[in-house]
Amino acid sequence: MKLFSNDSPLENTSFRAIIFAEIMAIILHFVFIIVFYINDITPLYYYNFFSIALYLSTIYIALNYYHYLPYTIIAIAFEVLSHQFLAIYLLGWDYGFQYFFIAIAAYFAIGGYVKFAIPLILTVISFICLIATYLLSNYTVAAYSMSVQAQESFYLLNMIVTFLITSTTPLIYSFSVKQYQSILLYESNTDTLTKLNNRKRAMELIEEEFSRNNREQSEFVLSIADIDNFKKINDTYGHDIGDTVLVEIANVLQKELRQHDIKARWGGEEFLFMLPDTNIDNGIITLNKLRQSISKIKVPLAQRELMVTMTFGIASSTSSHAPENIIKYADNALYKGKRNGKDQVVQALNDFA
Ligand code: GH3
Ligand code: MG
Ligand code: MG
Repeated sequence: MKLFSNDSPLENTSFRAIIFAEIMAIILHFVFIIVFYINDITPLYYYNFFSIALYLSTIYIALNYYHYLPYTIIAIAFEVLSHQFLAIYLLGWDYGFQYFFIAIAAYFAIGGYVKFAIPLILTVISFICLIATYLLSNYTVAAYSMSVQAQESFYLLNMIVTFLITSTTPLIYSFSVKQYQSILLYESNTDTLTKLNNRKRAMELIEEEFSRNNREQSEFVLSIADIDNFKKINDTYGHDIGDTVLVEIANVLQKELRQHDIKARWGGEEFLFMLPDTNIDNGIITLNKLRQSISKIKVPLAQRELMVTMTFGIASSTSSHAPENIIKYADNALYKGKRNGKDQVVQALNDFA
């Protein structure tokens, strides 16, 4: 049975949070052992040894058998609930053990990584324990007691520990959600093979650059480029070598173009570039340098080295007020370059011809 919804950074964060909480719990239980020994509360004294053994074994399981982690959460839940129940049954309501039922509900409620039913059931059980121990302590007399000073110290300690649990749990949770969001955002904007912007992100960036351009009356160039004879590379050397070529080209683009230039994988073996604050003449110079760098890429093969070339179509933002027109102009220029013998940079004619 799989209790976790799926692999995610939420799990990693919660994993670390669980291990951290368990180490803290072991330290706390050592303190309890000393206090219960001094105050002669024998059942709780022994119970704390069981608790420490349980925490140590759950840490061992979590570190060595990660997929059993959800079961260790249930074991911890059992320990916390039964321990507080026993403590309140023996000592009463005045030592602050009841706060754990509230605090631990916050811990259980990090339901994002565990299937929903489990935190829900654990939270309901915590609530039942809270009410039951309240009624129990109201209608029965506690079998054990400590000095007033020990009782007050216990109350303070339990209050502080449970406050820390309650306050840090949502903090850890929201931190991991933010981490997860940024990973999802990156993935939704990025081409998995080349790690360049994907087409969706490229369109957003072009729109942004266009409105900036209109405000500031600056000029940019846009280019669509396509690898030459890529089908032949795939057919001759295999799809994996084709993929390596795509990655190598993407690396050259990242290295050669400026950081704020937009580089995107536009389609299969097509790329799109947008160079802000650049006029057409400088754009052609830049792309020619890029073209030469690409033609120097050497993909090592068993017998020889594979060379690649790329053809570029380039259009300026002065050619149209509509981004889709500029893209179309650059695309037409690219196909003109293909017809003219490839491995070249071709300036758009600023029309659909
Ligand atoms: P041209 O010089 O005119 O551009 O010819 P070409 O062979 O490059 O163009 P064509 O459009 O005929 O072939 C493109 C090939 O790119 C076909 C497709 O299998 C391949 N391709 C597209 N995406 C990928 C990819 O992600 N990895 C690999 N290895 N190949 C891809
Ligand atoms: Mg091609
Ligand atoms: Mg193509």
